[in-house]
Amino acid sequence: MKSAYIHIPFCETICTYCDFCKFYYDKKIVFPYLKALEKEIKENYKEEKLSTIYIGGGTPSSLDLKELEKLLSILSVFKKENTYEYTIECNIESITEEKIKLFSFYGINRISIGVQTFQEKYLTFLNRKHTKEEVFQKINMIKKYISNINVDLIYAIPGETLEELESDLECFLSLKIPHISTYSLIIEEHTILHNQKVENISEELDLKMYELILQKLNQYHHYEISNFSLVGYESKHNLTYWNNEEYYGFGVGASGYVNGIRYTNAKSISHYKENKKIECYSVSSKEKIENEFILGFRKLDGISIKSFKEKYGLNPIYLKSVQDLMNKKMLEVEGDYLKIPDKYIYVSNEILISFIDCQEDF
Ligand code: SF4
Repeated sequence: MKSAYIHIPFCETICTYCDFCKFYYDKKIVFPYLKALEKEIKENYKEEKLSTIYIGGGTPSSLDLKELEKLLSILSVFKKENTYEYTIECNIESITEEKIKLFSFYGINRISIGVQTFQEKYLTFLNRKHTKEEVFQKINMIKKYISNINVDLIYAIPGETLEELESDLECFLSLKIPHISTYSLIIEEHTILHNQKVENISEELDLKMYELILQKLNQYHHYEISNFSLVGYESKHNLTYWNNEEYYGFGVGASGYVNGIRYTNAKSISHYKENKKIECYSVSSKEKIENEFILGFRKLDGISIKSFKEKYGLNPIYLKSVQDLMNKKMLEVEGDYLKIPDKYIYVSNEILISFIDCQEDF
C-alpha cells in the first residue's frame, strides 16, 4: 500500500452542484468524528511507509485550529516515504495563515483549493463564498509556506460563454501555480441544481470549452483528461488511482482498495461509527483488468505495456477488445505505451465503455 485518502465531511456552506458525502460543519460532531476516524486508522493501517496522503472532503480547512491539530496528530501515525506527497483540500474563505503554518509543521506539502471560477455571478450560482481578490490574496499567502498548489476550475456552467471561460483561464494562469484540475459541470441527481431543474450545457459548447482549455493551458503538461501540471508536479496521489494501485480510504463515505478488496464506508456518521460499509467486494481478475483500462486510459500517456505484462502476465495488445479498438484507430501504441490518440481523448468515456460492455474473458 502506498497511499491513504482521509475524508473530512464538513462544509460551512453547501455548493449547489455538490453530490459528495458532506455535512454542515457542527462543532459538536467534529471531535467525536475524529475519534471514530482514529479508531478506524488504528484498526486497519499496517504501518507501511506511504508515498501519498490526501485529506479531502467536504472542506478539511473548515475545521478550526484545535480540530485540525487533533486531525493532523492522528494522521502523524502514518509513516512516510522520503519523497512523499501530502495534500489537504482547502476553501479560500476558511484558509488562514495559522492553518497553513500548522499544515506545514505537520509535513503537508501540497494544497488543493476549490477556486472554481472568478466570475461573481457564477460563484453565486454555485454558492461559493469567496471573491476574486481573496483568491489572489490567499494564494500569495499560501505560497510563502507551500509552493505545490492545485486549483480546481469548473467550466460548462449554464449560461457561461467561451469569453467568460477564457477570462477565467487567464486569471488561473496569472496565479502561477503548478497544477490545475478542470471539471466540466455535470448536474448530478441529489444536488440543489438538479432539484432546481437546471440543465447541462450542450455537448457542442462543452467540447468547444474543452478545446479552449487545451489551447490556453498549453504551457502545462496535460497528463490526464482533466488535469494539467508543470512537469514534475503531476498529482502522485491521483496517479495511484489511475494506475489502478491499492490505497486506504479512511472516513465516512470514503472508498478504499486494500488486499484486492474494494470497499466504501457508510455515508452516515452514525453508521460509519459502527464500522458499516455500503460496499465491500473482492475484485475479480477480469474486473482488475477492466479497471486497469478504464482508469489507465485517462492518462494521456496511457498504459505501460511492460508493467501490464508484469502485473497480469498478458500482453494487452493481443486482447480482442484492445485489437478491435486498435483497428478502429481508437487505441494506438507509442513506445512502451498503449494509449487513446490525443484527438479522441475528449470522447474517451465512450471508448472506455467498450471495456465495461465487452464479454471477453481476460
Ligand atoms: S465545498 Fe466541496 S464538499 Fe463542500 S459542498 Fe462544496 S463541493 Fe461539496
